[in-house]
Amino acid sequence: MSRFVQPVPPPADPYAGDALLRSWLERHLGPAGHAAAKGRLADLAADVTGPLRAAHADAEAHPPTLIRYDPWGARVDRIDTSAGWQAQRAAAARHAVVALPYLPDARGTWGAAVRVVQHALLHLYGPESATFSCPVAMADGAAALLSLPDVDAGVRDAWLPRLISTDPATAITSGQWMTESQGGSDLGRSSTIGRPAADGSWRLTGEKWFCSAADAAMAVALARPEGAGRGSRMLAPFLVPRYAVDSPLADGLAADAPAPGVTVHRLKDKLGTRALPTAEIGLRDAYAVPLGDPAVPGGLVRAMTLVVVTRVHNAAAAAGGMRRGLAYARAYADARHVAGGALASSPLHRATLGTLAVDAAGAFALAGHAFALLGRVEVGADPQAAAELRIVAPLAKLATGRLAVSSASEYVESFGGAGYVEDTGVPRLLRDAQVLPIWEGTTNVLALDVLRALTREDAGTPLLSRLAAAVDLARPLSPGLADTLATATAQLGDTIAAVTADPSAEAVLAGARGLALRLAYALTTALLVEHAAWGDEQAELAARLWARRWLRHEEIAEDAHHHLDLLG
Ligand SMILES: Cc1cc2nc3c(=O)[nH]c(=O)nc-3n(C[C@H](O)[C@H](O)[C@H](O)COP(=O)(O)OP(=O)(O)OC[C@H]3O[C@@H](n4cnc5c(N)ncnc54)[C@H](O)[C@@H]3O)c2cc1C
Repeated sequence: MSRFVQPVPPPADPYAGDALLRSWLERHLGPAGHAAAKGRLADLAADVTGPLRAAHADAEAHPPTLIRYDPWGARVDRIDTSAGWQAQRAAAARHAVVALPYLPDARGTWGAAVRVVQHALLHLYGPESATFSCPVAMADGAAALLSLPDVDAGVRDAWLPRLISTDPATAITSGQWMTESQGGSDLGRSSTIGRPAADGSWRLTGEKWFCSAADAAMAVALARPEGAGRGSRMLAPFLVPRYAVDSPLADGLAADAPAPGVTVHRLKDKLGTRALPTAEIGLRDAYAVPLGDPAVPGGLVRAMTLVVVTRVHNAAAAAGGMRRGLAYARAYADARHVAGGALASSPLHRATLGTLAVDAAGAFALAGHAFALLGRVEVGADPQAAAELRIVAPLAKLATGRLAVSSASEYVESFGGAGYVEDTGVPRLLRDAQVLPIWEGTTNVLALDVLRALTREDAGTPLLSRLAAAVDLARPLSPGLADTLATATAQLGDTIAAVTADPSAEAVLAGARGLALRLAYALTTALLVEHAAWGDEQAELAARLWARRWLRHEEIAEDAHHHLDLLG
């Protein structure tokens, strides 16, 4: 008897096969803008389904290693990475995944919507990047920080062109050294000290506990200028060259040696993101240049420019991973047979996948909206967008991070036992998803940030007006949907008023996560409604099912089963 071997078809082309992505681009870019982006997107999708899928597998199978000493005992602290990781690095540069929003041509073509195009690139690139999407996020954050007018022009001119280079030979990425072992969420406990040197540069001394992209050419490190007060407000961002080639103190050292004073203690042995080198790094009088004047309070606000960018990238990674998980699971269900038929024809399995498709659509809209706002802030200097982004960035990050983990668990289960077997590549969906609610702010830490935005910065106003406008848009589509959103909006308005009246009440603090999630779910409904009102049938269905699932807490299995093909 011959052995049964399960055929596993590859998932569909991630650009051609993603109707919601394409209609979203059509709406936000207009037909001409979308046409201008198509070549880039199709090229990247072709790379993703071909060489990058292989590079991804290679990078996952060959995690980075730290070589501490050379054969003669000299300390070298070299991080060796795989060919797959290098291929991902080159592709990120070539496809302008970081660079696009900074390129004058691209800004000329798409204006503020240049970030919408970048989001589409990330949506395609991220899921099979072996988490090179993480260095991409931090490089983008560093580029945004370097672009601020209060950063010294000489520093900007030296580093920004390298971060946004589309030539793999010159492009670099950046790390972000914030977390210390005594505090990641609580940055006020940071103990890295900065001391000015005679020539205007600084020297940093301290210990950084979680440094991803530890192989990157530079990092943005938070440090407290010597003598500055306690707490987080006086922390300031500094640029630290990671290698001797860029450090003026590196007399006679090999170009690829660590910059003097930068020591890689060890690489973290992590649950996931295994291809990504994450290190513990010690700084002893390491050369650094300030990003803005460290003597002027506001350094942390400058650093938040970077954090907002990495948070919206995190949302893009979550949404992109969910969409790719769905594509894997649907392809597998077409090929797998159970109970005398294709798994894909089982009403129960279809309902499971349809429900996941609703979540993927919601996460996509939430991440996409955050990028659209970011573009309006950066290119259009739009104060309304800035006010809304203040709350949308943490909401998008926290809600998509949680959805990504629950969805990834379902995707693993949808492969049965094969989903638990390492070399199918499926288990990493769950491992890699689990970092999304942790780094750049855990769910609870972001929920507290949302509370601050509501109570100190009146961030509820732009949010509630978007919800109210969406109620009107929903009315002609579906009175039931409009009523559901109207009820949720009224309840949120009452809650925000109560929270603002007494922000430090224990009930308010204890309820912060619940409130943030309710806000995110209502906002997602509104975003899907907006897209539906523009004329997208898939968004209309997703809006109705999302609202029933997340605002009314109803079972949507039957509709999800019937409409799986339209949902994605
Ligand atoms: C794979 C990976 C890569 C990373 N890469 C980087 C990197 O490149 N650079 C970098 O700087 N950091 C990085 N980090 C660190 C990450 O940002 C921190 O781990 C995260 O911010 C949480 O901080 P912490 O570890 O100190 O946890 P803690 O802050 O100690 O959190 C522990 C728990 O306490 C909760 N908590 C904390 N504060 C509060 C509060 N005020 N109220 C209620 N609950 C609270 C949290 O929600 C969490 O559940 C990385 C982490 C991971 C897992």
